[in-house]
Amino acid sequence: MLEIKHHLKSIKEALPKEVVLVAVSKTKPLAAIQEAYNAGQRVFGENKIQEMASKYDALPKDIEWHMIGHLQRNKVKYMAHFVNLIHGVDSFKTLKEIDKQAKKHDRVINCLLQARIATEDTKFGLTFADISSIISSEEITALKNICIVGLMGMATFTENQQQLKEEFSALKTFFDQLKTQHPKLNTLSMGMSGDYQLAIKNGSTMVRVGSAIFGARNYIT
Ligand SMILES: *Cc1c(COP(=O)(O)O)cnc(C)c1O
Repeated sequence: MLEIKHHLKSIKEALPKEVVLVAVSKTKPLAAIQEAYNAGQRVFGENKIQEMASKYDALPKDIEWHMIGHLQRNKVKYMAHFVNLIHGVDSFKTLKEIDKQAKKHDRVINCLLQARIATEDTKFGLTFADISSIISSEEITALKNICIVGLMGMATFTENQQQLKEEFSALKTFFDQLKTQHPKLNTLSMGMSGDYQLAIKNGSTMVRVGSAIFGARNYIT
């Protein structure tokens, strides 16, 4: 478990100050998260709502929890009282449900809209046109308990650096363009263990790193 501390340290040292590191702890035990916490890490990402909720219950309350997985609307209620940022929002319906659940707790929940940048069709996400229309819609102004603070993207699972670079920079270009009309946008979540350095070079402000911190996961999620 000692490796966690070393991995975190070397990743953090190489990270620009303004880039937020989300330690993706999905499938990992409480002890591994506690180890990272003891090394100073406070932001953790999970992809299953119930798993995140039970970890939230068991761990220190100054941890910032990010939901990075695909959302099941009927489960939003299990995290509405504590989640700090929801990365994978890919429909207006989901935003409405987050708003409804956030309201019950008198909170405003920060959300990222997930953009489809990968060429694989297994990845979820909205087209750039969908994102523009959601973010500029009349209906969105009625949702007082959510705040869209940026975009999230997952690149194609490939070693091809040129392709990755093109996907990241396409999202960055779109993000900058959107920001001119929506100055509240400040977060661009892109980059994972295999590609976060390239993502940062192409404008990422938040990276989601799991296996490079905690080691390989035992099963595919
Ligand atoms: C699992 C996951 C990550 C982290 O993946 P690693 O390759 O282990 O760093 C990042 N983003 C999302 C959306 C994930 O589901």
